[in-house]
Amino acid sequence: MRDLADPIISLNGLGSKTQDKLNAIGIYRLEHLLFHLPYRYQNKTKLTKLDNAQIGEEILVQLTIERIEEIPSRQRQLLCYLTDEYSQKLILRFFHFNQYQKQQFIRGDTIQCFSEVKIGRQGLEMHHPEYRLISKSQSSLLEKTLTPVYPLTANIRQAQLKKWIGEALETLQQSPLPDNFKAISKSMPTLKQALATLHHPQKYEDIEKIAQFKHIAQKRLIIEELCAHQLSLLKFKNRRKNKVANIFAIKNTLSKQLLKYLEFQLTNAQQRSIDEINADLNSNHPMLRLLQGDVGAGKTIVAVFACLQAIENGFQVAVMAPTEILAEQHLYGFSNYLVPLNIEVAFLVSSQNASERARQLGKIASAKAQVVVGTHALFQKTVNFNKLGLVVIDEQHKFGVHQRLSLMQKAHNTPHQLVMTATPIPRSLTMSAYADLDSSIIDELPPGRVPIKTIALNNFRKDEVVEKIKKICAAGNQVYWVCTLIEESEVLRAESATNTFHYLQENLPNLSIVLIHGKMHKTEKSKIMLQFSRGEINVLVATTVIEVGVNVPNASLMVIENSERLGLAQLHQLRGRVGRGKDASICILMYQPPIGNNAAQRLDILRKSNDGFEIANKDLELRGPGEILGTQQTGVANMKIANIVRDGYLLERVNFYSQQLLQLDQNQQQALIERWISDDKTEYVNA
Ligand code: ADP
Ligand code: MG
Repeated sequence: MRDLADPIISLNGLGSKTQDKLNAIGIYRLEHLLFHLPYRYQNKTKLTKLDNAQIGEEILVQLTIERIEEIPSRQRQLLCYLTDEYSQKLILRFFHFNQYQKQQFIRGDTIQCFSEVKIGRQGLEMHHPEYRLISKSQSSLLEKTLTPVYPLTANIRQAQLKKWIGEALETLQQSPLPDNFKAISKSMPTLKQALATLHHPQKYEDIEKIAQFKHIAQKRLIIEELCAHQLSLLKFKNRRKNKVANIFAIKNTLSKQLLKYLEFQLTNAQQRSIDEINADLNSNHPMLRLLQGDVGAGKTIVAVFACLQAIENGFQVAVMAPTEILAEQHLYGFSNYLVPLNIEVAFLVSSQNASERARQLGKIASAKAQVVVGTHALFQKTVNFNKLGLVVIDEQHKFGVHQRLSLMQKAHNTPHQLVMTATPIPRSLTMSAYADLDSSIIDELPPGRVPIKTIALNNFRKDEVVEKIKKICAAGNQVYWVCTLIEESEVLRAESATNTFHYLQENLPNLSIVLIHGKMHKTEKSKIMLQFSRGEINVLVATTVIEVGVNVPNASLMVIENSERLGLAQLHQLRGRVGRGKDASICILMYQPPIGNNAAQRLDILRKSNDGFEIANKDLELRGPGEILGTQQTGVANMKIANIVRDGYLLERVNFYSQQLLQLDQNQQQALIERWISDDKTEYVNA
């Protein structure tokens, strides 16, 4: 007897070439064929009268053969004229045919044809229909269920695939497919039922719903698949936890020194995060912790405390940022705390010249530098850490998993990892896409921050904004003016920023206004940023290069031009550049009317809320998780039926069920994972 675990090669008519092709799309065993689902259906359950035939529709008709005709032109054709009992006509047109076929069509015989109805010069036609001849005694051969049409892969014919999947379905009927979803099964179809429904829906099933992936049978499978992925992430987490890392003794010597000269008190949320991190660092299992916190929540200092633990245990720290500007900001930010403690910080970015680079590499290899801040340049082969013990990654969704991995390999033992993100991730998503990470949340802003007031303003009212700038600068505060992505290219973007720059210069002749954009040389950019942070510039006109990371507490007005073009998360990040000091800050969202419904909603949400998590949740509603995390970090590549964007609304339930599934024994869990994740080359390799 056949078994669902049998390799597909055991199927009749399936050779090694086809096996390879199917393996390539994740089909190894009969079981996997079950999850190769139809992308649409044909309805051969009923006959349609020619009277009711709609052009373009696929229908099954039963008619009488009247005559055939062969057109002998260069493009030979066979026409077969059919008629119904009311003398309505339909022509079958064949561009390829053989004599045998021609002889089959006998005047007066009954024929059933299935195809799309077309319209020709002589009326209704079907081209190369599926057909069968029906002897007088036979009643019509109607299908009991809808007929599946499967997505095809290189050179495999529909009929073959249908036959093989059919055999897998037959095997399924006889075998007890373990169904671990008892909790779901009460309210949902079993796995068997769900698969049967989707391969061969009954006539009455709601095909519209299936087309939208909202059918209960699909939900059943989607939830199970998402659970399987989540379980596998959780298992990765356990596997990683079983690896050996260096134990950092928590001596707090350097931390105490730092606390002494720190001009502020840590918030409870910061202290809690530090404690959670210390507990991880103090264990011999590698930490992999996500540090989430809204913009301005104070993540840097928390990361600095983690660095200090590594350093006083004799280890080096790598701090990695996604862009050079951010890396530089971190260089300032970290050095600010570390240098007074006599800690040497190296810096590594790809734009450094050879001699500078060699100098930095030397400091890293000799362990003279205890902390190394940089970009992806940190991964390169030439970089040799003396004793890497901790990796701090900022904004990790901009890095691929593999990049993270190559940095891991630079350490002898698996280093501890702290991943900082300023994009608050809704909890349901954290649990799905980041299920392999632990997470600390700084859910509290430093005290004394005055909430940012947000205003939406029509672009035509620029002159009012100019007046506002005058006031702000007269009070000694500074201004960001951000020109957003109106243009595709950085060159054009810079050009539009240049226009704004000239406009402001003309209207604010007494202020120091400077333009910064992505086309500038990086030393030029850092010079400007430094001047701005020292208060030497009143108004900084920028393309979105300042999006994340810059910290100038004296800046209290943020103007965002064409804000309707930006997403919620990005706007919130930009707005977070102000409101970092004691002074009340304002964010002006300028927009170019008319704006769409969605854009209007975004601006409205921002006007009403300063809370990154609330905004992230709205963002999830408006855009879906794929957009928020980026495709790389949906964590779940190659899904069979689920789509984390489309099915985001099911994530809460997935999280709930996953917790239940964790109670199952290991073999059952593994069986579930293998059912959905067919090869072991899974994407999330978190060393
Ligand atoms: P982010 O979480 O956006 O990276 P930063 O670490 O850059 O935030 O901190 C933002 C600002 O808040 C910095 O100027 C920092 O010095 C200040 N800050 C951080 N923690 C506190 C605190 N507990 N009390 C007062 N100010 C703080
Ligand atoms: Mg920061």
